[in-house]
Amino acid sequence: MKRRKIIAANWKMYKDLAEANDFITFLLEKLPDTNAEIAIAPSYIALWHAFEATRNYPVEIIAQNLHYAEQGAFTGEVSATQLKSVGIQRVILGHSERREYFGESDALLKKKVQTALKNDLNIIFCVGEQLKDRKAGTQVEVVKSQLQNTLFHLNKNDWQHLVIAYEPVWAIGTGETASPQQAQEMHQHIRETITGTYGSDTAEKLSVIYGGSVKPENASALFVQPDIDGALVGGASLEVDSFVEIIKSI
Ligand code: PEP
Repeated sequence: MKRRKIIAANWKMYKDLAEANDFITFLLEKLPDTNAEIAIAPSYIALWHAFEATRNYPVEIIAQNLHYAEQGAFTGEVSATQLKSVGIQRVILGHSERREYFGESDALLKKKVQTALKNDLNIIFCVGEQLKDRKAGTQVEVVKSQLQNTLFHLNKNDWQHLVIAYEPVWAIGTGETASPQQAQEMHQHIRETITGTYGSDTAEKLSVIYGGSVKPENASALFVQPDIDGALVGGASLEVDSFVEIIKSI
């Protein structure tokens, strides 16, 4: 089964408007030919400009988050409708930084998933265990319960709008990467968990990407694994050259 490959950049709270624009200009000059979908998640302040600048290129601009409400008195938040009004069609949900620093629980994420799908937004949904879970050997159960608590109320059809990003928390922004074997093992577990509830046709079509200190030096070894369909890249997506090298590795 040929699955969609995806390389997505998560810029977190980096880059002001000028820096974001410069990056996009250089990226479009250097963009390699690839079969992978390329996505960039800038901060909200750069979404519109980035969307306009990439309009005629195979680079999708996506959002880092949304609020579950359609609108309302939620100071500092951004809704699905607002994202769609600047052309956004995909959102990252469940990132470990949102879970850890902003207290996003599985229950809240389930609501965000509902809102995104109701608004025809595609989702990159992040799951991943903490270091203590891996040390205790419970990583598979932890990831399984994240999936079950947030996504297993969905219909089979909803899964075509989802990409799962496996991001072990201990490997995010730490320079520590899961070994290709550790990542492959978890990606396979994720696919098996989804097969168990939705069947192998849904699971085999689902792209499962890896995130956690992906860089040009380790990207190829991850991408050759049979269940790794791309990457969500933080730090190494902030420089055009390293992001381009990662794209070339897939
Ligand atoms: C991320 O933020 O999703 C991420 C994987 O970051 P980094 O590549 O810096 O570990």
